[in-house]
This record gives sequence, C-alpha cells and structure tokens, in this order.
Amino acid sequence: MTNLKPCPFCGSAECEIFSRTSIEGRVLYDVVCHECGTLSGPWGSAERCAKHWNRRASLWQPIETAPKREYVLIPYGESIIIAGLFESHGGSEHWYAPHSGSPLLGRLPTHWMPLPEPLEGKG
Ligand SMILES: [Zn+2]
Repeated sequence: MTNLKPCPFCGSAECEIFSRTSIEGRVLYDVVCHECGTLSGPWGSAERCAKHWNRRASLWQPIETAPKREYVLIPYGESIIIAGLFESHGGSEHWYAPHSGSPLLGRLPTHWMPLPEPLEGKG
C-alpha cells in the first residue's frame, strides 16, 4: 500500500486511497480523510493520487511561521481554503479573511501556505 502523509487539513493519519468506476467505465482514485472528510482527486492511478496528496500535504506549514500582514492561504472549515491576513490592532491579533463572508470567530488556523502565482495573460 502506498504511504500517505497525514491530512493537510486536520493532521489525521486516517487517510486512505479508494477506487471507483466512473460512468465512462474508467477506474478513478481518490484520497479520503476519515477524520474530516476531505476528499482529493480523482486521479487515474493510485500512485498519482498518493503523489498529489503528499505534495499538497507538504505544502502546508505551521501557522507560527506565517508572514504577518500578507495574504496567505489558510484552511477554513473542513474543505474550504481562503485567503487570510494576520493583523494586529492595538495589542490584539487576529486573522482577517475578507472573502470568507464572516469573521473567523476566534478560530485560529493551524496551517498556511503561500498564495499561488497570479494568472498571467487572462482577462
Ligand atoms: Zn482530515
């Protein structure tokens, strides 16, 4: 069995590759986290599935290392990723996420990753 890194969202090691057959008859592979329900895939082989999962898992970094006052990606809820900014105002520090539709309600993210490169030549 292919080794999977812990879930990038909840840190659980209860992650597993499962296969299913698409309506076109292709066999597809996904990774599921049994702890938080995160689903990754589908991929055409179990090897690619594991490679992608593990690469993503290694992208997440501990929140203590996040840059201040700079947008980064943070997990929000079970399977949503948002852009957030760490701010400090008059002694209080919090995460600000303008596109989440609500404040972070005191919930502190545990991991972050850099924003992807902007699209070029679009629009
Ligand atoms: Zn998980």
